[in-house]
Amino acid sequence: MLIKCVILQGALSLDFCALSTAKGMELIMKKIFIVIISIMMLFTTVPAFAQTQTDENTGIVQNDHQKNIMRAYGLTEDEINNLTLEKLRDVMNNGKIKYPSYLVKETPSHKNNLTKDLERKIKAKGLTDQQIDALGDMGFMPEEIVSLDTENIKDKLKDTEIPFTTSVLPSVTTSATPPSGYHCVNQVPDNGGTDEWFHPNVDVSTAAVDFYVEASKYAAKYIFNDTSLSNLRYSYYLWGEWGEDANTTWCHEGVDLQYVPNNNRAVRLNMKGNVTYSDGYYLNVYDPILKVTYNYQHLTNMPTFTVGQYLTVGTIIGYQNPGDAHVHTQVESGNCGTTIYSGRDLNLQCIEPYAKMIYWI
Ligand SMILES: [Zn+2]
Repeated sequence: MLIKCVILQGALSLDFCALSTAKGMELIMKKIFIVIISIMMLFTTVPAFAQTQTDENTGIVQNDHQKNIMRAYGLTEDEINNLTLEKLRDVMNNGKIKYPSYLVKETPSHKNNLTKDLERKIKAKGLTDQQIDALGDMGFMPEEIVSLDTENIKDKLKDTEIPFTTSVLPSVTTSATPPSGYHCVNQVPDNGGTDEWFHPNVDVSTAAVDFYVEASKYAAKYIFNDTSLSNLRYSYYLWGEWGEDANTTWCHEGVDLQYVPNNNRAVRLNMKGNVTYSDGYYLNVYDPILKVTYNYQHLTNMPTFTVGQYLTVGTIIGYQNPGDAHVHTQVESGNCGTTIYSGRDLNLQCIEPYAKMIYWI
């Protein structure tokens, strides 16, 4: 771009004295020609940036976080570098998670400078990955974790236990019979519960469930603007899970996220798009790039939004509703402008939300 500007500047330095001769006129014409070519070169460069993420026929530009989501889906570097919007939508809607660790690696900030040597020393203390994450979320650098003695670590981790007792959500009644065809997940990570049942269409492989939990954690941190895990619940009612609110006759269409310390936490928008429905409690926003509608429920004190209004990532869309004590978020395929139910029967109608919940944040 700098070179182009220099060429343009040189070409613009016209010698008006040369206008009096035929040879001078030829020189002027040449210079005008160079100016036109230079301007054309400038305009062929700028739209190449402008059309990223909107032109289906053009490769799209992704940041490191978005590339890691693609890597988690198993795409090669070549596929990522030549990604089209059509391919992106296909991956997000039909892809299978193969390597959730790409997301795990980037979520805890303390792992950014975790060398192999430090990792070995930390592991030698007998800490689980979750405990190491918790210490990192509390602000401890890897070197500090190495220097802490075991008693000190135990003391610090006491505060990271997620306090289930503060929840108003009941658990599934143990006497209920799981629906036929549903899959059982023996242990959902991060206090997501034991023997949890999921709709037959939900991939319950270890890689997939790990990704669901990591993506929900990532989204919860952003939505509630808090990185302390002890303040967040994010794996207790996932997409396609049976038994939310002790209701055993339908499955959950979305993901429940909770801010634990208080019910009046502001909720930030984790995507961008146009409002298609808003009533102070529900909000639907359509993302024209991924072609999906994001739905939020149980909000209160929602700002007045008008249908068609464009909302940017990070917009405050309301506050966690004290009566419900969690925010329900789900994703529906296409442009939806009406109420989306969080669950009505044992059929799973909304699409897998996880990668979409975190793609823009
Ligand atoms: Zn819910």
